[in-house]
Amino acid sequence: MEGKVYLTSWRKSGSRFKLWLTEKPECSITADSFEGAKESLWELICLKYGDGEAVLEFDVPPPESELLAQYSEPEIVSISGNDSAEPIRPLQEGLFEKGHCPVCRRQWGGRTKMVAEFQYLPTVSDGAVSSDGMYFSSDFLDLLTPVELDNLAFQPVKTLNKTKKVFYELVGKPIARYVGLTGFPGKRGEPCHHCGYAGFTNLYKNKLFCFLAKSDINSNLTCFVVTGGLRLNLCMTGERWRQIRGKRGAKNCVSSQIYIIPESEAIRMTNS
Ligand SMILES: [Zn+2]
Repeated sequence: MEGKVYLTSWRKSGSRFKLWLTEKPECSITADSFEGAKESLWELICLKYGDGEAVLEFDVPPPESELLAQYSEPEIVSISGNDSAEPIRPLQEGLFEKGHCPVCRRQWGGRTKMVAEFQYLPTVSDGAVSSDGMYFSSDFLDLLTPVELDNLAFQPVKTLNKTKKVFYELVGKPIARYVGLTGFPGKRGEPCHHCGYAGFTNLYKNKLFCFLAKSDINSNLTCFVVTGGLRLNLCMTGERWRQIRGKRGAKNCVSSQIYIIPESEAIRMTNS
């Protein structure tokens, strides 16, 4: 299978970075930079295991540039399945109260109760993504506590392919919205010229960044939903994710760091 998620460890010794697959330590690489070592490890996985789309999930967060290191506390990650959910064609009308923006394809209005239908949902992975949403297996939901589930909302989905897994769509309840960062050195996505939606797509050195304002997050929650990206995102504290990662029910789910910024540096959408 291509596009598998590989749990990866790393260590800096002297000025060199060593990276290795946590469960296959013999698959290791050393390079002058972290990014260089990552590239080489990808190549090695491709050669050894024939996986040209490997995703590396680091057991400790990768080193950050000085600019972003100051925004790494509290440690929050967004979780998604590294697999795709293929909606039926033609696409269903009526999944969102006011449809989609014809220009940016952003969803308008809340999710209706209509059951989303797919021609393909994963047979092995416990999470999947489509242009409209995120889907998690019942095994993934079983890893969450009742208190955590209370802060989330899911809806069942239907699929045409054969899979023993039962998937649910994440449909709520967002507690926060992504914001922009004042002085971000990279490129920020322009607001949609039709609906005005500012998605806060932040690109810097070929990497996408997402920001949340510290005042928007509730420090008591270990698992919560945010909005403002292309779709609802499931977020967790780094600590909570490390308890779940690698367990049955989290197969091919991958994390991506969210940066937490002070209110004084947050840029908010003014049109919603
Ligand atoms: Zn739009």
